[in-house]
Amino acid sequence: MSNHIKSKLLIIGSGPAGYTAAVYASRAMLSPILIQGIQPGGQLTITTEVENWPGEEEIQGPDLMIKMENHARKLGCEVISDHIKKLNLNDRPFCAEADSGKLYYADSIILATGAQANWLGLQNEEKFKGFGVSACATCDGFFYKDKVVAVVGGGNMAVEEALFLTKFASRVLLIHRRDSLRAEKILQHRLMENKKIEILWNKKVIDVIGENNPPGVTGLILEDTNNKKLINIDASGVFIAIGHSPASELFVEQLKTYDGGYIVTEPGSTKTSIEGVFAAGDLVDNVYRQAVTSAATGCMAALDAEKYLSKNKGA
Ligand code: FAD
Ligand code: NAP
Repeated sequence: MSNHIKSKLLIIGSGPAGYTAAVYASRAMLSPILIQGIQPGGQLTITTEVENWPGEEEIQGPDLMIKMENHARKLGCEVISDHIKKLNLNDRPFCAEADSGKLYYADSIILATGAQANWLGLQNEEKFKGFGVSACATCDGFFYKDKVVAVVGGGNMAVEEALFLTKFASRVLLIHRRDSLRAEKILQHRLMENKKIEILWNKKVIDVIGENNPPGVTGLILEDTNNKKLINIDASGVFIAIGHSPASELFVEQLKTYDGGYIVTEPGSTKTSIEGVFAAGDLVDNVYRQAVTSAATGCMAALDAEKYLSKNKGA
């Protein structure tokens, strides 16, 4: 295969937005190429049950994403395991340079690079990443059988992580900086019912405590947000679940953005500030950030790209 690959439409990202765009673009006979990135299937591959994908009362996140990938492939989308490291949206055709050394040229592009986990930015957080500090209970929960673990955050993800960890841990401490959760009511109900979970309200994590040899977390220093008192708690692991930020570093300098890197799209469309470049999914959305809303904007992006390409034949 040549190092220069040209397509009418390049889709970057393999989450619900990317694969949905691929399904629609393939049916529109655009022969799209989709680059999966380092997380094939996107964020849902690090969760377990998904209970709000219409048509599936309950499905494992990784299974849902395999179904989406198969669907896109079956309709003719070329799905490539590669990662884009540079993107030039100033010249036409657009050019994406991949880790493999390949150059992907395209007349139009759909950006669907999603979002990535936020970290607290604590002094010891980086040092203990992989040694007790994690952002993925599905990936690492198994290592905490009969141990005490902490989860930080108060959204859907924190609550789901806490519930999942009760399968392994003897006790789960949910640490939240306020006195109410923002997670959905159904998840809050499950949380309150679970005897293994204790919620530490109004607590801020000041730092992670651990041992060096072998490296491992032993606890956390917390601050009570009401009276500023410091408290030490014991825990063998801590799962950070404090939200996500858009994965837009590649093109943040080239496109209009808002709220820390989300891509601006024209109201009611997926058009970005550069003609022929469309964006979808969590990358454009600082409000809903759901699989189904990402899929919906992925669909819109493919339809918008089709219209753009037919207007600009040989773009
Ligand atoms: P993502 O799923 O984030 O996928 C982004 C893709 O872009 C990835 O494939 C990545 O490899 C690729 N990529 C990034 N950078 C590059 C690059 N430079 N080159 C090539 N590719 C790149 N939502 C629900 O509706 N229901 C749930 O039950 C639910 N549970 C969740 C549980 C967890 C633990 C998490 C973290 C999220 C959950 N969500 C849930 C939210 C949902 O996963 C996201 O809203 C959705 O995945 C966003 O889809 P997306 O296609 O925009 O991006
Ligand atoms: P989120 O909804 O943005 O919640 C982030 C939580 O972390 C909030 O409770 C926030 O506290 C807290 N937080 C943020 N920064 C913090 C900091 N520096 N220190 C301490 N706490 C901090 O994020 P999420 O839970 O990761 O969910 C992301 C998106 O994915 C959401 O749209 C969510 O609905 C979706 N999702 C859906 C499901 C599902 O449908 N079952 C499951 C998982 C995720 P405050 O509340 O004080 O702001």
